[in-house]
Amino acid sequence: AASIKESHCDVLIIGAGPAGLMAANWLAVQGLGASVRIIDKRSDKIFTGQADGLQCRTLEILHSFGLGEDIWRQSNRMIEMRFWNPGADGQLQRTGSVPDTIPGISRWQQCVLHQGRIEKAFLDSIQRHSDGKLAVERAVLPESLSIDEHAVDDPDAYPVTVEVRKLSEEEATPTQMGKSVPNGLFRSSLAPDDTPSSVVGTGDRERIHAKYVIGCDGAHSWTRRQMGSKMEGDQTSFIWGVLDAVPITNFPDVRNRCAIHSVDSGSMMIIPREDGLVRFYIQVSELNRGVDRHSITPEMILATAKAIIAPYTLDIGEGDLDWWTAYVIGQRTADRFALHDRVFIAGDACHTHSPKAGQGMNTSMQDTYNLAWKVAAAVKGVSPRSVLATYEMERKQIAQDLITFDHRFSRLFSGKPAKDEADAAGISMAEFQDAFLKGNRFASGLSVDYQRSLLTVKPESSSKTTVDGGEVVAHAAVAAPADGVASDPSLSAEDAGETRIDVGKRFNTAQVVCHATALPYELADWILSDGRWRIVYFCGDVREPSCAREMQQLGDYLSSDLLPRFTPAEQDVDSVIEVLTVAATPRAECELADFHHALRPHTTKHHRKTADGRYNTSQDYHKVFVDDTTYHQGHGRAYEKYGVATQYGTLVLIRPDGYVSLLVRARDHTQLGAFFEKVLLPAASHKPHQHTRIKRTTPA
Ligand code: FAD
Repeated sequence: AASIKESHCDVLIIGAGPAGLMAANWLAVQGLGASVRIIDKRSDKIFTGQADGLQCRTLEILHSFGLGEDIWRQSNRMIEMRFWNPGADGQLQRTGSVPDTIPGISRWQQCVLHQGRIEKAFLDSIQRHSDGKLAVERAVLPESLSIDEHAVDDPDAYPVTVEVRKLSEEEATPTQMGKSVPNGLFRSSLAPDDTPSSVVGTGDRERIHAKYVIGCDGAHSWTRRQMGSKMEGDQTSFIWGVLDAVPITNFPDVRNRCAIHSVDSGSMMIIPREDGLVRFYIQVSELNRGVDRHSITPEMILATAKAIIAPYTLDIGEGDLDWWTAYVIGQRTADRFALHDRVFIAGDACHTHSPKAGQGMNTSMQDTYNLAWKVAAAVKGVSPRSVLATYEMERKQIAQDLITFDHRFSRLFSGKPAKDEADAAGISMAEFQDAFLKGNRFASGLSVDYQRSLLTVKPESSSKTTVDGGEVVAHAAVAAPADGVASDPSLSAEDAGETRIDVGKRFNTAQVVCHATALPYELADWILSDGRWRIVYFCGDVREPSCAREMQQLGDYLSSDLLPRFTPAEQDVDSVIEVLTVAATPRAECELADFHHALRPHTTKHHRKTADGRYNTSQDYHKVFVDDTTYHQGHGRAYEKYGVATQYGTLVLIRPDGYVSLLVRARDHTQLGAFFEKVLLPAASHKPHQHTRIKRTTPA
């Protein structure tokens, strides 16, 4: 037999869809590019079709990697959702309109852009962050996976062995089914798994020894099968078709998102897209009516769409159909997401559901966004392996919530409208609209609330205690406005509620002002995804002697105890834990020197090397912010929005993925140490060759 090449890597990612690319990007950003591999059995990435909806949370995450604004610019924003239903006379009519995204919930609103462009943004970012050392290895198929169970607890071991084979061009190219218009049937639930058989293959083989494997290989996941993880749940009986086209129509709302229920021709969802495209999701038929997938053509899907939208007309001119597919919805989750916390699955590999609420790609990327910083921390010796167990715990819950949500939403979407109130079998349109509104918060990705764990310190029973006394608290109370600051009449209690700090949820943004430069910033612009932990210190008003005293004690604790304990001496002092301060003092009423030196450290900001190869450090001017008015962008009212007090200090501890771990009064700062004792390893254990050098950029 031909000899097999042997190799080692820290992390092997299988599958380069949205989940795999998010993982690769996150690892590359944290400096692991050279020790990560990502393989895909396909010879090319997706160019058209597939997923397109990006929810608020995903946009926040993309922005934290510096990718949000470009994607936002290219995308089509979804502002309004309109409901069309049969009236008493059976004629289709507009029955309601609601905002597509809950106003005020995020600085971003849901938008659409096809998967290929999102994947492209990741591919470019991976290349940039890894200096070209990490790239997708295409046409590579994994054929066997084994784990040395004796070695799984050794942080330095490579216990997972994966044998891979290079595929021929023919094996790696999916056959397009049917006609010449690009379609997604080869990836659809209606198609059999198209993984090439390993018996016929003759390509070069390699045996990869990895510390960690992340399976992002989609709904037919090979990795899931190797792990012995099973999909649990059901398949629905409706076949749905998708057409991406530039339509010719007299339907007035074609540039809005619409849900249309016809009397008895089925339902349709309209999604206005970028570049004049419109996506139509059309309920084609029920499976048990004997329709087989070979009989489904774009013409047949269009004919059904015409019946649903009648009396309005709908046509697609020659050459105007961009892409199409058809699928049956399965609502299932994997029973395990991890094996020995060495092999993980993420994305469609562990949950499948209907695409209509635009959740799949978003949830898939958020899975690996949750996982990859934990894997990086374990590889770098920054965190103990115990943090890895929180992946399955946190994301399995999300997957199950998603299935429950999708179940309700698709049933209401697929069902026939009730003829009248007595029609119990029919779907009440008021109920559908109500379900949409309620589901909207879930669909935005912002209701994610991670449960209590070593990463999330909240009381067992309730998450609704207030900042008070010395206790660990789960969310900040909306405090009274600062003395002398009139309450902003435009700020409703609801707005404040969207920004308020909740342990387990993502840390929201508010406008603050950089003390050194007078520039207004969204605070989230400084909470970048770079692998660091962050402490946001709301120090109150530094003119108050009690606040100043508290700051002195906290600063001494940070500089002489907490930071040196977990940060190797040769690294920047903010490279593992960064502290950002927000003062309630007007900018003109305080000087930078009023802030403890630990809050305005010197860092190797500009990467200027000295002759002996070391880096010079200089004062970092972007650590201290104030909650004050600005010359051109008004007042952010950050203290009010976050609901934190101005008369004493509050500390918010934020995970590398932006979720709040701990919320305590500043006087109880030793709780930070108690927290990190379990979550970070002492500085001496961090692997010297994988030290983090933070790429410092100023947000736009
Ligand atoms: P995939 O995108 O399936 O990627 C898996 C990758 O792994 C592929 O590149 C594949 O080639 C590779 N692979 C598979 N098997 C192997 C193997 N054995 N070895 C090596 N590589 C392998 N989601 C949304 O969020 N919003 C939407 O608007 C939306 N609309 C959708 C519309 C349609 C019509 C469809 C079909 C899906 C839609 N989705 C949507 C869902 C979304 O496409 C998926 O949830 C998402 O692509 C999942 O990402 P993933 O990375 O987990 O898997």
